Amino acid sequence: MGRAAAAAAVGGAVAACAVATWLVGRRVRRRRRWGRAAAALRELEGGAATSTARLRQVVDAMAVEMHAGLASDGGSKLKMLLTFVDSLPDGSEKGTFYGLDLGGTNFRVLRVELGETKSAIVDSRVETQPIPRVLLSGSNEVDFPLPIFLELFEFIARAVKAFVEKEGKGDSGDGPRRLGFTFSFPVHQKSVSSGILIKWSKGFAVEGTVGGDVARFLEEAMLKVGLDMKVSALVNDTVGTLALSHYHDEDTVAAVIIGTGTNACYVERTDAIIKCQGLLTSSGGMVVNIEWGNFWSSHLPRTPYDVELDEESPNKNDQGFEKMISGMYLGEIVRRVLWRMSQEAGLFGDAPVPLLATPFSLRTPMVAEMHEDGSPDLREVARVLEEGLQIRGVPLKTRRLVVRVCDVVSRRAARLAAAGIVGILKKIGRDGSGGFAGGRMKGKPRRSVVAIEGGLYVGYGMFREYLDEAVSEILGEEMAQSVVLRVTEDGSGVGAALLASTLVR
Ligand code: ADP
Ligand code: MG
Repeated sequence: MGRAAAAAAVGGAVAACAVATWLVGRRVRRRRRWGRAAAALRELEGGAATSTARLRQVVDAMAVEMHAGLASDGGSKLKMLLTFVDSLPDGSEKGTFYGLDLGGTNFRVLRVELGETKSAIVDSRVETQPIPRVLLSGSNEVDFPLPIFLELFEFIARAVKAFVEKEGKGDSGDGPRRLGFTFSFPVHQKSVSSGILIKWSKGFAVEGTVGGDVARFLEEAMLKVGLDMKVSALVNDTVGTLALSHYHDEDTVAAVIIGTGTNACYVERTDAIIKCQGLLTSSGGMVVNIEWGNFWSSHLPRTPYDVELDEESPNKNDQGFEKMISGMYLGEIVRRVLWRMSQEAGLFGDAPVPLLATPFSLRTPMVAEMHEDGSPDLREVARVLEEGLQIRGVPLKTRRLVVRVCDVVSRRAARLAAAGIVGILKKIGRDGSGGFAGGRMKGKPRRSVVAIEGGLYVGYGMFREYLDEAVSEILGEEMAQSVVLRVTEDGSGVGAALLASTLVR
């Protein structure tokens, strides 16, 4: 062998050796990174754990806080707002009524025609429209002739007018048309048809509205655009949902919304509403809007991701329960977990992932799509990561881990909502434990229907399964048979129209 050849051979061996070392090094690095990602997952699972025992503590805390919120204003993080709705539709209503549902990304206008026979909604039409972003979070920096909240209400009034002109040709002419206005923000109700906005939530912030009567704002806007319509009922979306469910099934005792935000209401005995002594209603009961999104308890399984999300939110220390449960936040929690895994464990390799760093870039429906991907190679997960977050070429193993993260976050949310529901049942003595006061119940439990509405519950099958399962798990199989969870589609709007009819009888 010549010198040159020998040198080449040695050089080749050195190079091969270097490549091998580099490969081994890369493998070691990868394994280490994967180890860190797996550890972060385990940590998340631990922090977000919802054992049955833990959920029962949440149930008790919810019932206790409800009680405290009924005892005095400011007695609890739960506002327990009076709605002045003391009778619910039962199927005997007649006539044509309108509903307007404002409270999320869209608003809905609808019309229901109630027939001569019981429980027959002869006809109902729903129209959904987006609200222009500038009207939702705008201040008057943008060029508008009117204060921004008047612009918002006028925009809505014009849409209602257009809808009435299109759909309402056959309306009978005696008196103004009746509207049930679903306004899904905390309102200090003055009567069933008037109320003062306490605060905005769910990303809304319209200057000038807090402290004003939202029903009057709407009526004035309708008058201004030339629409003869009266707000007969101003209700929360939970109350609308309760009303529609009750119209079909009189065993309905509570309603829950799990959409962009989350909240619940239920029928309470007036004598249990201690903060409003001497409250008299013909039915002896009143619907109470819990505003459960603001529920808080040390028993809630909170992770560092929740703490950071709250810290960086515009409504810090507010809506703690909602921030763990609702559609506005689930995607954001998952994003925070994945972002940390990408930073600390190189989950998506070395290329930058700028979209993943952007708050709210991962929306909850994307979480649902990834979580529910049934394909063996998790094609949907790859697609969502690529199309939604511009992260390409993610290996199968990593996609599996992403699905795990979605599962942990959504499962916790569903199970906490389930605990909230059982908390309400406990407060009214329908959970089989003898109620808030304790002591076992005798005899067969009464049937209780809980109406549920909202895009998260309706559109996300795994979430729904986890929630339903957890309710049974907490109640026990036998008791669970007397509790019916009933999806009430479009309940928030249709129910408000029904209430408008109940209240004019
Ligand atoms: P809102 O709460 O605004 O009145 P919805 O009840 O329709 O409206 O809820 C919409 C929210 O529900 C969305 O913002 C989203 O977070 C969530 N959502 C809707 N569809 C799905 C879905 N298929 N999977 C998961 N979440 C969904
Ligand atoms: Mg809604």
